[in-house]
Parts: sequence; structure tokens; C-alpha cells
Amino acid sequence: MASVAILKCPDYEEEKVVQIMNKLLDSIHLDQVKDKKILLKPNILYAAQPSKAVTTHPAVLKAVIRYLQKNGNTIFVGDSPAFQNQEAAASKAGLKQVADECGAIWQDFTHTAAIPSPEGKLVKSFQLASILNDVDIVISMAKMKTHSLMYYTGAIKNLFGLVPGLSKSALHLRFPDRDNFAQMIVDLNLAAKPSYAIMDAIVGMEGPGPGSGSPRNVGLLLASDNVLALDLAAARIMGYKAETLPILSQALECGHWLKPGEEVIYPLEKAEELLINDYRLIWHLHDASMFRDYMPEWAFRLVKNLTVKRPIFNPKKCKLCGECVRICPAKALSIAGNKVQADYKKCIRCYCCHEICNHNAITLKKKVF
Ligand code: SF4
Ligand code: SF4
Repeated sequence: MASVAILKCPDYEEEKVVQIMNKLLDSIHLDQVKDKKILLKPNILYAAQPSKAVTTHPAVLKAVIRYLQKNGNTIFVGDSPAFQNQEAAASKAGLKQVADECGAIWQDFTHTAAIPSPEGKLVKSFQLASILNDVDIVISMAKMKTHSLMYYTGAIKNLFGLVPGLSKSALHLRFPDRDNFAQMIVDLNLAAKPSYAIMDAIVGMEGPGPGSGSPRNVGLLLASDNVLALDLAAARIMGYKAETLPILSQALECGHWLKPGEEVIYPLEKAEELLINDYRLIWHLHDASMFRDYMPEWAFRLVKNLTVKRPIFNPKKCKLCGECVRICPAKALSIAGNKVQADYKKCIRCYCCHEICNHNAITLKKKVF
């Protein structure tokens, strides 16, 4: 039976985080994990200071490393931002320093291996960070955030970072449809086999996440022995219904993490008593995929172009760093005449550009007639 431990934690004061994390991890029986090799996968979307709420906070990572080390476990920590230098991004987020200080082994995820996903619906094998073959346990250490493409990002989506760097763009291109992309993320989790999930929701992100939203004080830490159960609890607290979230609904449907009707235990605080009624969520973007079976490809593209939000570039905020151009899987962007130019006929609406721009220069809007 899955268990989700939740406790209030008002801020990132280190001693407080340690005390609360110890209680959380005890209650999901992580104290019984001894002498194992454990990979911790925080969220390092891009180089951002902890106050921006883009990345898992270093105080949370530190508390988890210290807890696990007490039982003789060997700790590996890593993530792979889409294109930035991984160590520089991790250092700006304060995570690399914490790992070094605690004697954890830093992983840059540049070495990959074919990791099978025999239960996967769409993908039967992934090229993922090879450290997965060397560890006994994987723990997803997510941040509570909204997500412009998938509406919500938590423990399951966080493991997309096991795909190294720009290879993520190839998967966006291969699965441009939102539901297929969600299924691919579920298949990836079936391959990576995370055993536990921890969420930093002391300060989450609301509005146009996962990179351009606003910090939101939530004041919670969560831990679970089940990635899906943790995500269901977190999404519920934010105000989402699981069936409206593509990743969570497909993870539920696959039955790997939770069987139909299976009960989730809350040994500490209860998710339903912590609901936030004004979290700025991403509501469903109109999805043209429902029309795909009923019209020719040219007409489908036209409908998609008109009904689905597209990235709009604000030249006043744009620093011409070129990061959106590099990450765009459809090669729909270029810099010309001192501004970013978009070819919307090529754009697959994956919103990687919006996710990665840390200057808030991209907004998502429907075409205006
Ligand atoms: S839109 Fe953002 S990511 Fe793209 S070039 Fe401008 S500042 Fe860089
Ligand atoms: S322009 Fe942006 S939304 Fe369109 S395909 Fe490129 S990265 Fe994706």
C-alpha cells in the first residue's frame, strides 16, 4: 500500500528542514534502507538561484543526503539540464556545493546506456544516464510546479532529466502530441524504476511554469514510497484533478504504481486538508489532436495553428542569448534582425523555448485574428 508523508515546513531554515525531513523519511521507512547505492535526482531545469523556485532547494537536498548517509548508503546526485553546462547550472542552484560538502558523488549524466522499458506502451528502450545501471535505488526529488505543456510537473515528470541534454528535444519531436508525450514519460519511469519520491513544496511555482512562473509559498514537504501517489497528492493540493493531467491519468491507467481503487495512506498530514484554492494553475490549452482522425493533414495543421497557443517573443525582454533557438526540436526559431524569428508552420507547440527562457521573454498566446 502506498504511503505519502506530508508535513508543514514554513521556510528553508536548515535545522528546521532537517528535523521535518527526518520525520517524513522515517514515516515512509527509508530508515530501513542501509548500505545501498542511491541516486538522488533533483530538478535542475536551468541555472537559477534557489529563490526563483525553478530548482529543488539545496536545503532539501542536504537534509536527504545527510539522512541517507547515516545508514551507510552511498549517494549519487545528478541531473541534466537541456543544454546548459550541468555543473554551472547545479552550482547556481546551490546543489553542487551541497553534494560536494556532504561527500555525495556528482553525476553529469553524459554517459548513457540503453535502459529497457518492457512494460512501456510507446517506448521499449531509452538511452538514459548510465548511472541507473550502477545504483540500487532511484529517488526523484521534485519541485512543486505548474507546467505549460503538461499542466503539472512533479516526481514522474522530473525523471525526464535522465535523458541527457539536447536528446530531450528529439523526444519532443518524436512525440509532439501531448498525450503521447505523457505516455512516453510514463514509459521512461517504467524503465528508471524510481523507488521513492520527495517533493520540495516549501516554495513552489505557479503561473507559467516550469521556468517562467512565480514563486508561491506553499510551506510543505512531501515524501512517498510511490512516485504516482506523491504526484496525486501534490496535484490535488494545488487544485488539479488527476484525470485532467495527462501524465498522471496515463500513469494511473497503466496500473504499475497503483491498482484501481488501491488506497493511499497519509501517516502525517492529509492532502485533502491542505488544499489551496487560489494556486495559479495552467488550464487546459485547447488541443487540436481530437480532430486528427477527422481531417486531412493540411487541415489538421491549420486547425492546430489556430487553436493551440504558440510562443510569442518579446524583443524588449529578449537578451538574444539564443538558448531557445538551440533547444527548439523543430528548428522553427532563428535570430535575425536582432530578434527571435519563429516559423509557426514548423513549430510543434512543445513549449521547450518557453520552458528554457529565463528572461521571461516568451509568452504563450493563441493567434489573434
Ligand atoms: S527569447 Fe529568451 S531564450 Fe530566446 S534568445 Fe531571447 S532571451 Fe534567449
Ligand atoms: S518554437 Fe518553441 S514551441 Fe515551437 S517547436 Fe520550437 S521550442 Fe517548441
